[in-house]
Amino acid sequence: MSTRTRFAPSPTGFMHIGNLRTAIFEYLVAKHNGGEFILRIEDTDQNRKVEGAIDFIYNTLKLCHMDIDEGPNNAGKYGPYIQSERLDIYKKYAEWLVEEGHAYYCFCTKETLEEMRKLCDARKVPFMYDGRCSNLSKEEIEEKIKNGEKYVIRQKMPKYGYSIVHDVVYGDVKVENKILEDQILLKSDGYPTYNFANVVDDHLMGITHVIRGNEYLAQTPKYNLLYEAFGWEAPTYIHVPMVLGSDGNKLSKRNGDASFMDLYNEGYLPSAIVNYLVLLGWSPKENQELFTMDELIQAFDEKRISKSPATYDIKKLQWFNQKYIKNLKDDEYLEFIRPFLTHDVSDKSEEWINKLLLIYKDHLSYGKEIDELVNIFFNDEINISKENEEFLNSDEIIPTVINAYREEISNLDDWTIENLAEVINKVKEKTGAKGKLLYMPIRIKISGVEHGPELPDELYLIGKEKVTQRLS
Ligand code: GLU
Repeated sequence: MSTRTRFAPSPTGFMHIGNLRTAIFEYLVAKHNGGEFILRIEDTDQNRKVEGAIDFIYNTLKLCHMDIDEGPNNAGKYGPYIQSERLDIYKKYAEWLVEEGHAYYCFCTKETLEEMRKLCDARKVPFMYDGRCSNLSKEEIEEKIKNGEKYVIRQKMPKYGYSIVHDVVYGDVKVENKILEDQILLKSDGYPTYNFANVVDDHLMGITHVIRGNEYLAQTPKYNLLYEAFGWEAPTYIHVPMVLGSDGNKLSKRNGDASFMDLYNEGYLPSAIVNYLVLLGWSPKENQELFTMDELIQAFDEKRISKSPATYDIKKLQWFNQKYIKNLKDDEYLEFIRPFLTHDVSDKSEEWINKLLLIYKDHLSYGKEIDELVNIFFNDEINISKENEEFLNSDEIIPTVINAYREEISNLDDWTIENLAEVINKVKEKTGAKGKLLYMPIRIKISGVEHGPELPDELYLIGKEKVTQRLS
């Protein structure tokens, strides 16, 4: 049987990096085994639905080079792939469970449930539906339905014994059946609960490996009881640990930078994000950090997913991103970085702009960073800090060095990077200044700050006119 995994997001128009990491794991399990990766939209909570969310998910996965084999926009033979279009399927299967005695109609009203809850509170036990409707007779049920009473369908749990679920990451999970609530499968509005729909869909869609957040692990014994009731084989379960923020809390939507699109818009390359995320909670056999997608497909082994929560660390992501930016070809890099440059370049040549952008290629952590780094090339006025001013007065060789630069530069006809490198050599010979005393005075004079790109590049980009003016 071919391996089939599914990514099953709710269409919220937002891709949390925790969700994206789950999608990556799902994609890799499928592709490592030559199987299919399916997209299923879980929109049974209609309140959370956002227009355009499906295209957003497609775009995100496409940017990350994860092709969807079957999904709402490229339907295979197991559709529909959107849960709200499958309501008749859930109804049919829920009713079958009722007929077979694995589920029952429950007519309890909100008020009845509220009383039940209060009773549990008074006894200081967690709320659990007491199963009273499972005792209704066939006649009572028919009567209530005839009277138009609203009902839900609940799963009938065994009251004795244990259920055991095997999970690839967490091993055997054993629970006492008596703590399993008769959960709702079908709501009164005809929508299924996640707890029901995931089982029906995973089976009907031929899903072999279910990969999802470990918050679902405790519920999984209930799902297995459903698989048993239907006489279906349960999938392989791979529950993955949470991704925590650096403060140790679960990442949330409010934590802005936890969204894929935010990172993308800040200038993080999707391939770097994927590479970083896959290592949150998974480790390869060999000590390798940088992976192409093909290498990941080769190397991925779900047995090496860790049980412990992983911590999202933007600094580490920046480290990956820097490597990926550096590895771009120059033209790819220019295409990527150009939109992040927001300075007015209308009076600059293409050659000047490209040169400017390229000198940062090897050091950039993310796209947006460029804008601040290049400020020194766009300021009309430069501000020299008090410390830098003090530095300029700290050694008597400094005025001599600055004068030497001024002289060499005014004698220079051809404003090229090579010639400017030569200027620096000449000043060194002439003045005997070395290191800090050779570079810092001129840097401070021409840009106001002591750091910047290679000095010949910096001089070249600032241009002869401004350099001469600032040295006088
Ligand atoms: N819709 C669920 C979620 O977004 C999917 C869980 C699952 O993969 O089964 O958390």
